[in-house]
Amino acid sequence: MITLALSKGRIFDETLPLLAAAGIEVLEDPEKSRKLILPTNQPNVRVVLVRATDVPTYVEYGGADIGVTGKDTLIEHGGQGLYQPLDLRIAQCRVSVAVRSDFDYAQAVRKGSRLKVATKYTSIARDFFATKGVHVDMVKLYGSMELAPLTGLADAIVDLVSTGNTLRANHLVEVERIMDISSHLVVNQAALKLKQAPLRRIIDAFASAIPPENN
Ligand code: AMP
Repeated sequence: MITLALSKGRIFDETLPLLAAAGIEVLEDPEKSRKLILPTNQPNVRVVLVRATDVPTYVEYGGADIGVTGKDTLIEHGGQGLYQPLDLRIAQCRVSVAVRSDFDYAQAVRKGSRLKVATKYTSIARDFFATKGVHVDMVKLYGSMELAPLTGLADAIVDLVSTGNTLRANHLVEVERIMDISSHLVVNQAALKLKQAPLRRIIDAFASAIPPENN
């Protein structure tokens, strides 16, 4: 049995064409079903639905053999114990710094002010500001980062940005682009040895179906 860990939403939806290239069709719609284990048309392949941040953990400890996860999640997890054979170029976005439109970020950085930064991505944010030589107080949040500068909880946020609509709707502006993000295929290292042939078949099929570079 091959177990594939996916998170609901964009990653699940954008992984479906890659699965199709491997001849795998998921037989239930996760938006309609409450099941956490979804069968596929291949009796020896199943999909488990987990939170996006849990995908690397499931694959690391062998709860799943293979998974699809954002580079952001992978960096925060650390990637230990994971073979990362492919950048799938799906669920593309970027990690950016954003502030209230009336906050003078450039001046705060120039003056060497201490910045209060709210984010779910504390490793990425810490590395970025350390490299820039900016002192930060980090506030760890698990969601709705956009609210932090609006309520005075933080001066800046570090969050995923795709179209920029969420920032605009909350009167925030993107002031730094930290890194581009896409989803990657991760494989349990022991499983790669024990289930080499079926996993290789899936990895090769995914590789052949990666969407072309769009920038
Ligand atoms: P947007 O309004 O299109 O810039 O999207 C920003 C919102 O969607 C933020 O709340 C992000 O956390 C979330 N988001 C954007 N892209 C992704 C992605 N690839 N994976 C997960 N969340 C995302």
